[in-house]
Amino acid sequence: MKQYTRIEKERCIACGACMAILPAVFQPDEGGYAEAVYGGDGNRGITRIPLDMELDLWDAVDGCPTEAVRQSEYPFA
Ligand code: SF4
Repeated sequence: MKQYTRIEKERCIACGACMAILPAVFQPDEGGYAEAVYGGDGNRGITRIPLDMELDLWDAVDGCPTEAVRQSEYPFA
């Protein structure tokens, strides 16, 4: 299970797709670029995403046009 996620900010083009698919996890920063916020994660990728969001998380990864949505079975930091 790949339940950790973060946004590679330098790749994000602020298209909004991931935020539309999974707004509980992805929200815009002050510039409109996505970041992972679930559980106060602060885009560190260290907060486990609940299993019931797993399919939407996969969709967000697949739907990102710039492959900026990262996903891992381990915390990123
Ligand atoms: S789908 Fe990708 S490019 Fe679009 S806002 Fe999310 S991270 Fe950024």
